[in-house]
Amino acid sequence: MKLALFDDWRVGVVDAGAETITDVTEVVPGAHDSDQLGAGWWVRMCRDFRSLRAALEGAARDGGARRLGDVRLRAPVLNPGKVIATASNYGDHVAEMRDVVLERVAGHVDTWLLDFDVFLKAPSSIVGPDDAVVLPAGPTAEGREVHHESELAVVMSRGGSDIDAAHALDHVLGYTIGLDMTVRGDGDRSRRKSHDTFTPIGPWIVTADEIADPNKLEVRLEVDGVVRQDAKTADMLVDVAGIIAYTSSIMRLDPGDIILTGAPPGVGQVQAGEVMISEISEIGTMRNPVCASKGEVKR
Ligand code: MN
Repeated sequence: MKLALFDDWRVGVVDAGAETITDVTEVVPGAHDSDQLGAGWWVRMCRDFRSLRAALEGAARDGGARRLGDVRLRAPVLNPGKVIATASNYGDHVAEMRDVVLERVAGHVDTWLLDFDVFLKAPSSIVGPDDAVVLPAGPTAEGREVHHESELAVVMSRGGSDIDAAHALDHVLGYTIGLDMTVRGDGDRSRRKSHDTFTPIGPWIVTADEIADPNKLEVRLEVDGVVRQDAKTADMLVDVAGIIAYTSSIMRLDPGDIILTGAPPGVGQVQAGEVMISEISEIGTMRNPVCASKGEVKR
């Protein structure tokens, strides 16, 4: 099932082939609250998805389908408690950082940045499909590079601490595309990666039962039609289950939390006026333009 949020944060089931979406909000327990701050219903839906699945499928079958082009898709996540991101999880990305990028953007190589780990991004940095990424004024004025990182994103269903890798995928609601936009150079990752608009997520969640193996997907990103990133999740140094196990050994994972699984090689700078198209096999495609300031945001 492809689960989406659209318009005033209604819940939809997408038929990607037919390019339609069906509103299933009425079968989600709890009154729908279009105020994004009242998003407890979404977190509970993530937690209880297995028991709600049949009702959602029924509503999708019986409801009236609308054309996808007639709705505004939103990020298919709502007020997650945590956005967790994975660092240094593809060997060729570690190599490009070590051999090229860090020297250029920082003038030195901090070797700890090359170690696999997880860190946090501010949930307020999330935007949706077709939303603009806004280059932040301060770092731009300093001449800092802003880079794209296109990543497989995992949305959690049942949470937990110390989740065993052998059972970790049972805790996953589904998979989507995440961009981990990044200011390069010195400074803490959470600051460089948490600017408003720096975490585009979308276009929808493909539920875990429809992805046979999240470690066998292809991740691509084009900027103005030029392929920048083209990788296989099979090349992750720590696979999806391993990331969940490691993260949950540090912090409790909660329903609705998002985990970005790390940048494939090919990271690079984006400029105002460019358009990023990110694609993951079995999931879909997401488009995000880049703007120089909030005042220039166009859809
Ligand atoms: Mn990243």
